[in-house]
Amino acid sequence: MGLWAVLCISITAHAEKAEWVGVCPEPASCKVTSSTYQPLKKVSVACADEAALSWAKKHLKEWYGKVGPEVVNASRSTADLGNEAYDLEVTAGEVKITARTLQGVRYALYSLRQMAIPQRGTLQVEGWILPQVTIHDKPSLDFRGIHMCWFHESKPWEIERLIRLAAYYKLNYAVVESWGSFRSDVAPWYGWPDGSMTKKELKRLRKIADDLGITLIPQINVFGHATMSRGGAGKHAALEFNPQYQPLFEPVNGWNWCLSNPETRKLLQELIVEQLEAYGNPPYFHIGCDEALPPSCPACKEKPYSQLFLEHVQAMNETISSRGAKTMMWHDMLLQRGDNRWNGFYANGTAETAAGLLKLPRDIIICDWYYGPAHKAYPTIDYFKEQGFHVLACPWYDTGGIAAQGRYAGKTGLDGMLGTLWHHYFGYDLVDDYFTLSNVAWNSESSFSMTGAHYGEFFRTHLRQIGWDMHIKDSRHAGIYYHEVPPEPDLRN
Ligand SMILES: [Zn+2]
Repeated sequence: MGLWAVLCISITAHAEKAEWVGVCPEPASCKVTSSTYQPLKKVSVACADEAALSWAKKHLKEWYGKVGPEVVNASRSTADLGNEAYDLEVTAGEVKITARTLQGVRYALYSLRQMAIPQRGTLQVEGWILPQVTIHDKPSLDFRGIHMCWFHESKPWEIERLIRLAAYYKLNYAVVESWGSFRSDVAPWYGWPDGSMTKKELKRLRKIADDLGITLIPQINVFGHATMSRGGAGKHAALEFNPQYQPLFEPVNGWNWCLSNPETRKLLQELIVEQLEAYGNPPYFHIGCDEALPPSCPACKEKPYSQLFLEHVQAMNETISSRGAKTMMWHDMLLQRGDNRWNGFYANGTAETAAGLLKLPRDIIICDWYYGPAHKAYPTIDYFKEQGFHVLACPWYDTGGIAAQGRYAGKTGLDGMLGTLWHHYFGYDLVDDYFTLSNVAWNSESSFSMTGAHYGEFFRTHLRQIGWDMHIKDSRHAGIYYHEVPPEPDLRN
């Protein structure tokens, strides 16, 4: 079902529609005060953080060049505004931006950019105009993340575009899972030898992300998914070219790490530290832990596997905590498969791992993934909250499901959302995923009023603006697909 149909159903019970002026995600409050467009001549910024004024000057110049507005400092009270909130008022002579933090100013300017259009009637751009509005805006959820995969086939420019898009749509975290692309110095054999996720490239992306207001989070799968390759592909990013390292992995396909081998734990701890450093010591580290298989080596079979698993997670968590970061992990191995309470949701653990959950430190953030259609309630989310964990709702693909999980997160006071893209980072899935996630994570009561305004077309405009920022010169780097007519069957789906 398309987004439009799903949202028609899901929005009817929610708040009245804000007037939509092209801003995505939809602001908490937006009023058009006059239908006459005003020239973008002067922007005044009121913000306690001195960095905000220079950020505004730098980016307005980047976006609008010589015909951009004058940027001046202003003094207005920010006492009523939260950390990421902003007020944006467009009047006849001036655009007024008021925010407590640089992040709030960034968000105000992203909104401004989405509203402004070139002045009419000239051959080339000679100025900018925008509607007269009053916007009061703030996010519903503190953690608004997206999980993206850096596959062996992924190009750095694709990842950069996803990061820029996430920031532009007011998400504030991006988990970047390396899928064998990371070039490790600790273990150069750990990953494909021609992976494009070099430390130099990461540094470049981090600089962009920091500037745009989004924090990158590393991920290594420390349990299952040790192949660092999509299951269906049947590849192993470490073992194909390095069979000597087989003792570190379970014999069946090398899918799980061998948890009873002390060398495994030592290596993973070193790899975690290496990636934390490569990411500039971010506040979170994702250890995966979904969809593991039963053990297949004699040593792992000998000991209660759940015990091994728990000790392993605790050891990883200690390493991460010792570097001042918090552990994130997928939820499914912590729920017993077949337990009726989780019918219709994802549970891949055993009675032992489910019992072991209770022994895990409560500072671990549980990433509860669910990719199906909308539900009224999410019992797995409730359960982890009851047990005292921080929980993120992690939807994918199904736009009705993404919207419903966001509404549930807002209603139940959840810590946030971590949307996922997996291998669907092109085409309409890219559009729908980003659009729905950002709207509901920013404003869990969003009316999705822009759905009536061909949001896909606006998305393409926003993507084009990002292409300008990236100075793209290759037609394949534009739009939502590489090609207008695919040269071969699309193998991504
Ligand atoms: Zn083993």
